[in-house]
Amino acid sequence: MMYDAEYFLRFVKIFAEYLAENREYLTQLDAAIGDGDHGINMDRGAKAALERLKSANPTTPGAVMRTVGMAMLSSVGGAAGPLYGTVFMRMSISFGGKEKVDDRELVSALEQALLGIKNLGKAEVGDKTMVDVWEPVVKFLKENIENGGTLPEMCEELISLAEERMKATIPLRARKGRASYLGERSIGHQDPGATSSYYFFKSLCEAIGGR
Ligand code: ADP
Ligand code: MG
Repeated sequence: MMYDAEYFLRFVKIFAEYLAENREYLTQLDAAIGDGDHGINMDRGAKAALERLKSANPTTPGAVMRTVGMAMLSSVGGAAGPLYGTVFMRMSISFGGKEKVDDRELVSALEQALLGIKNLGKAEVGDKTMVDVWEPVVKFLKENIENGGTLPEMCEELISLAEERMKATIPLRARKGRASYLGERSIGHQDPGATSSYYFFKSLCEAIGGR
């Protein structure tokens, strides 16, 4: 399948809906092991992104992602603003000026986004961050795309993998970000950034069907 600007606009809208619906939930998760602002941060960023998209009216995948990235970077503070800002900016750079991207190009952009997250935050799998969802999901996508798979046919498995990895952050001890200040006390709580990342991938899949 080919993914055009319309697809990415649908994706951003769905992601924004999940973040708005789960603003309280994400905030509660962050209150347990951080400072209780992840839901507020992400919802604010997504709303700013939707506003900018309305006025900027981008017509390529890269332009959509750049508009969202800029909104995230300028309206969201803390760790999540720069991290998600990097996700969208890296994807935008990866898409360049293409009118449409294919499955391979989409997966390659997600791989670049993961590199951006790791480069910025220096977290590894097991540190109880969004990397715990991103890395296995990108690995799964890469392996399957190399074997001729497409995103639509991978989506069911992809969503369960993201959910499983999100839940797998519960028993972990945080080693990066604010939650790491809690040491042992971070054990037993689900990571908020891993949770918003689960919504990210779910939205990517749901935008295919046009939810
Ligand atoms: P802050 O921690 O500044 O309050 P948020 O609450 O919005 O920012 O985001 C917290 C989330 O950011 C964490 O749950 C975690 O998933 C992610 N995070 C924090 N630090 C890092 C890091 N160094 N690398 C990757 N992700 C991180
Ligand atoms: Mg926080």
